[in-house]
Amino acid sequence: MIIVKFPKIGSHYIYVIPEFFLRSIRCYSPRSCSSRGPMRAHLKPGVSLPAAAPSPKSSSNIVHPLGAAKPLSSVNIDRGRGALLGSAVGDALGAPFEFMAPGTFRQRFPEPVLEGHGEMIGGGSFGWRPGEFTDDTQMAVIMAENILERRGIDPVSLWANWRAWSQSAADCGLLTSAALSRSSWRGSAKAAHEQSGRSAANGALMRVTGLALAYASAPLEEAIAAARYQAQLTHYDPAAGWGAAIATALIRAGIHDQDPLSELEAVLELVAYEEREAFASILSEAWHPDDESALANATVWTCLAQAVWALRSSSSFEEAVVAAISLGHDADTVACVTGALAGSRYGLSAIPERWLAALHGEAMSAKGIRIYQRQNLIGLADQLLGA
Ligand SMILES: [Mg+2]
Repeated sequence: MIIVKFPKIGSHYIYVIPEFFLRSIRCYSPRSCSSRGPMRAHLKPGVSLPAAAPSPKSSSNIVHPLGAAKPLSSVNIDRGRGALLGSAVGDALGAPFEFMAPGTFRQRFPEPVLEGHGEMIGGGSFGWRPGEFTDDTQMAVIMAENILERRGIDPVSLWANWRAWSQSAADCGLLTSAALSRSSWRGSAKAAHEQSGRSAANGALMRVTGLALAYASAPLEEAIAAARYQAQLTHYDPAAGWGAAIATALIRAGIHDQDPLSELEAVLELVAYEEREAFASILSEAWHPDDESALANATVWTCLAQAVWALRSSSSFEEAVVAAISLGHDADTVACVTGALAGSRYGLSAIPERWLAALHGEAMSAKGIRIYQRQNLIGLADQLLGA
């Protein structure tokens, strides 16, 4: 086996295994050759087909180019690191409880487990290792690395990397998988949408944390536009992009030492009028997860509402992600979004050490596989922040 270890880039080590070799390995893994699991996209029926965000005129165009990073304080950096690692921690902690009934996590862990890696038990529908992050974080770090490399969003390059990932991913949402089955990004979101008439899933929301760090120094409107742009590559319904944009704005607020919840009303004012009321309703203080009967699981609205509720109803990072996972169903994704929000609010220093010590994962792109542990993710966060 050949593993190439590149020189240290900041604190960010990169390991690359050729793609053909990875495929030969993964076909011996039961989970890598498994079906894609229960359907995740129970989406808004009958959505009209409004124009998606503008497409680049040329495949060589970089969309939303990154500007120079502004100086950040140690608090800003701690918040940014907390968002990225918090999202990965929530994802990994929730993965064993994906598709499970509400309350399963609290039944399994009536009290915090402070020894070893604590509640990072692994398992679940895809046989995750304890502490291993899932497709949510895999897509996020692939996009984050691509934004860094291209200094903005390059839809051609990003598509190639996501597509290579999807072809061997242990788990990939149905809608995202349908879009990435096509060789070009052009028209793929619309084609995937037309298979079911629905595309307001949470797949574009769950992967947005690294982007929020990359555009932390950009004007808020630019960060929102970038979040919407990446969403429309796979999710045709504009609600998917607005959910990603709201999360980006809230994470960004946390990085800048503002309370994300205090900024929510102002952020909602930036949402397109025709989408605003739906988000304002479910993100209000009056909303409770028990009210979700009218909303299907795994939609962008339900996921974001559950994450904001978990943040609002808790007073620490740990309480927030436990509240999210305890809702069951799409536990890894809701906890991933919650972890990003709570991480940006409380910072890396507030994430329990027992969870950070177990955190790891891998993400395969067109360039091969990259292995991440805590220090790699901190290094990636710092690069994204320009720290
Ligand atoms: Mg997942």
